[in-house]
This record gives sequence, C-alpha cells and structure tokens, in this order.
Amino acid sequence: MTQTPVPEKGAKLYEGKAKILYETSDPDLVIQYFKDDATAFNAQKKGTIVEKGIVNNRIATVLFQLLEENGVKTHFVRKLSDREMLCHKLTIVPIEVVVRNIVAGSLSKRMGLPEGEVLPRPILEFYYKRDDLDDPPINDDHALVFNLATAEELAHIRREAFRVNELLIKFLDPRGIRLVDFKLEFGRGTGKNAGQLLLGDEITPDGCRFWDKATNEKLDKDRFRRDLGKIEESYHEVERRICEA
Ligand code: 5GP
Repeated sequence: MTQTPVPEKGAKLYEGKAKILYETSDPDLVIQYFKDDATAFNAQKKGTIVEKGIVNNRIATVLFQLLEENGVKTHFVRKLSDREMLCHKLTIVPIEVVVRNIVAGSLSKRMGLPEGEVLPRPILEFYYKRDDLDDPPINDDHALVFNLATAEELAHIRREAFRVNELLIKFLDPRGIRLVDFKLEFGRGTGKNAGQLLLGDEITPDGCRFWDKATNEKLDKDRFRRDLGKIEESYHEVERRICEA
C-alpha cells in the first residue's frame, strides 16, 4: 500500500489546551501536536503531566487504527513522530459528544447517583462546545435550531458514537480496562472527504474515563482533576495495556 507522502509542516493554525494544530503544504492535511499541558474545570486548574503528549499520541494512534480497521471514518492518517500525528483537515462540529456506560462525573452530580452504577444501556449526550459558556448540555433540538449540525449529521454522529463505544469496549475489556465514559468530536472533511463527517480530536485518558477492571482504580485524567496522585503512572499503565498488549 502506498503511504501518503509527508507534507511540509506549516504555520500554527490553532492552539488548544492539550494540542496544537499546524497547517501543512497539503491544504487538506494538518499536523496534530500533543502537548504535556493538562487543564481541568474549563482551564481553571492547570498543570503538566510529564510525557502525556507522547503517551496520548501512542494511545490515540492505536485506537484510531482500531476504529479505521472496523470501518469508522476518522481524521487519522498516520503517526509522524513522538508527539505528532498527520490528520485530515476538519471543520469541527461544535458539539461535544459524550457516551456513558457507567455513572460518573457530571452525570453522578446531575442525577444524584453514586459513581460506579452500571447503566442498563449506554447514554449519549450532547454539549455545546463553548468554553466561554462552560460547554452547556444541549439536545437535538438545540443542535438543529441553532444550526450546529443537520439532522443527517446528528443521526450519523449518534450511530457512529455507539459503534465506537462497542468497538472500544470489546478492545479494552480483555486489557483489563472498563470504559466508563468518553467524549468524541466530529468534523466535516475537505478535499476528497468533502461532504463527509469524520471522527476527529483524540481518544485518550484526557477525554475518557478508564477504570481498572479488577479494582475500579481510576486510570485517567480524573487523577489530575481530583488530585489523586500517580497521574503519570496511570497514563503509562493505560499506554502499556493498549499499545503493548
Ligand atoms: P463529565 O460530563 O462527566 O465531566 O465528562 C464525561 C466524559 O467526557 C469524561 O470522560 C470526560 O473526560 C469527557 N469530557 C467532557 N468534557 C470534556 C472536555 O471538555 N475535555 C476533555 N478532554 N474531556 C471531556
């Protein structure tokens, strides 16, 4: 199989809390650079997780490849270096898509339920991706009325998000990881991907809750958010189970 040639790295397009996007000499490709910076509670808490960028790039590469092999269209093209991934350029749909299998985090607060309760079926939630508003929860009607996405796009997002959930559970369970919940972002493609929605962003312990299957120990960014210690160790443990098993 011929590999896409590596385009030249260009100017910085966008810098987020955990990643930087660079344009490239190919107008339809970008380079996603993973930083060590960690933020929580809409950047009110800031810190660094040593080597997080390297670890997350490795984890996201394995998980995007898994999804691609199973027919989920993602922005992943290939890993370029320790911290860099070549991706299809997207216009991000401003909706954070959360899938939940087990009660935790904001669902626990909203419903007054203890963390750890297994849901009878997965729940899909939408949040408006707006830092200045603290990403408020929205439903399909908000998304449609405020033109965040079309009905066809919402149907695609719903279907793909549940499919990603099933594929990740199947992959993570034998590796001793419970997939509690996770956040996805989708975007509209350009060039040969025009007219298509692709899964974007990243799938890493920054945006997923991963609990140890035997002990329910948290192995994700909640260790940073809640000052639980062993942050780097937990990221490396997830990396070991996902990338080496
Ligand atoms: P919760 O709504 O319980 O805070 O988060 C649900 C899931 O979505 C968690 O796995 C959490 O990591 C992820 N998530 C929600 N919002 C964000 C966000 O703005 N950034 C990141 N990295 N993850 C998020």
